[in-house]
Amino acid sequence: MTLHLYNTASRQKEEFVPSDPKRVGMYVCGPTVYDTAHIGNARPAVVFDVLARLLRHIYGKEHVIYVRNITDVEDKIIEAAAENGETIAELTARTTKAYHDDMGALGVDLPDREPKATEHIDGMINMARTLIEKGHAYEAEGHVLFDVQSMPNYGGLSQRNRDEMIEGARVEVAPYKKDPADFVLWKPSPGDMMGWESPWGKGRPGWHIECSVMSKAELGEVFDIHGGGRDLIFPHHENEVAQSCCANDTETYARYWVHNGFLTVDGKKMSKSLGNFFTVRDLLGLSTKLEKCAGEIYRFVLLNTDYRQPLNWTEDGVQNAENSLNTLYTALQKLEGVDADLSQTADRIVEHLENDIDTPFALKELIAIAKQANVAEGDDEKARLKGQLVHGGYLLGILQQSVDDWFKGGASDELDADGIEALIQERIEARQNKDFARSDEIRDSLKEQGIILEDGPDGTTWKRG
Ligand code: AMP
Ligand code: ZN
Repeated sequence: MTLHLYNTASRQKEEFVPSDPKRVGMYVCGPTVYDTAHIGNARPAVVFDVLARLLRHIYGKEHVIYVRNITDVEDKIIEAAAENGETIAELTARTTKAYHDDMGALGVDLPDREPKATEHIDGMINMARTLIEKGHAYEAEGHVLFDVQSMPNYGGLSQRNRDEMIEGARVEVAPYKKDPADFVLWKPSPGDMMGWESPWGKGRPGWHIECSVMSKAELGEVFDIHGGGRDLIFPHHENEVAQSCCANDTETYARYWVHNGFLTVDGKKMSKSLGNFFTVRDLLGLSTKLEKCAGEIYRFVLLNTDYRQPLNWTEDGVQNAENSLNTLYTALQKLEGVDADLSQTADRIVEHLENDIDTPFALKELIAIAKQANVAEGDDEKARLKGQLVHGGYLLGILQQSVDDWFKGGASDELDADGIEALIQERIEARQNKDFARSDEIRDSLKEQGIILEDGPDGTTWKRG
């Protein structure tokens, strides 16, 4: 099997053939840093983290460039900074750090490159100027607008007709626009509003041109994969295509377009504007587990549904993920003392991932390997299966902590591991003194707090139930 991806541009699953296997480029639209991320925003971060891991496995780490930008100029940022009484620099530094912390807790690696929009303003001014020179954009009242009628195949990516585009873009019908579908490349920043000097006066870029310029700076005019949530297909990605193809005189911009489906609550897209969201931070805090355990559970939930399908967030989904991870870590626990054969690759997991990032099947396969390991006999067989668990876990970005941390790291604020060990010691002493009432009381109280004691020949062990 070779990698196949569903390409939004062709509406088909296609074999992925990079233009240069020694330099595979992927650009994913990153966060607008005005607020903390909700778990819906985490879905693309996790999905494309897995795709980046897979590309590195196939083409070699040094041959993949994964770019995820930071949008640190945008009207929502200007509004939020004013509302919070923060400077823009303070707000974007704080929320960028929060994004890194939150995605880190979900096991998302940093991308290879993370350009910030504010570092590329000159490139944006240049691209807007080029588009004017080539007859694809015009200046009006301090704005620079893309002239959609100058591009015959505008709308090709989203396959929308004109009315749908005007409706979907909810573009401002402004008197200075030649066509209501024309969109902003540059806009004026009056007074002391965040802005940069430009040939059209002090202003700031539109959102779409930011990604056209950052992707070109990092990956060139035409590159392999462009990703993001499906809400970005129109207008954001459509407009990136228009700007880049017209400015660079290319037929193509991104060769494969990959879009994740929505995370929903009661069937409705999770979004800040509907108010039906949980931030990643809140979810991590709500869990009685330590952050890295909770983060691993949420990552599992995100990967347990096909990335293109809607994913409805439920308590059951979270509980199932935890149970599955318990199964996986229990298998690893049984293999403690076995040296994993690290030359192993989890080939069947790779095959599922190569089939348009089929993470639910890849996870099922990982659990199947764990079950095989549970009944394996012979050190070679165990070493082989442990090697596959380690490799498969790495590709999916799970099973990255020790068995001990998984089973014990779920300590809540009230009761940490030291506290539990102290109670176990007290229970042993109570039993030695034949104070069975106290010994039972300790067991029951731990049980109420979700701690299960297991008495075995080598003493008492505990885990979170
Ligand atoms: P934003 O900060 O709103 O630009 O969103 C950042 C990323 O999260 C984009 O790729 C969006 O498409 C994606 N996104 C936003 N809401 C959801 C959702 N409910 N489910 C899945 N992806 C989402
Ligand atoms: Zn973008």
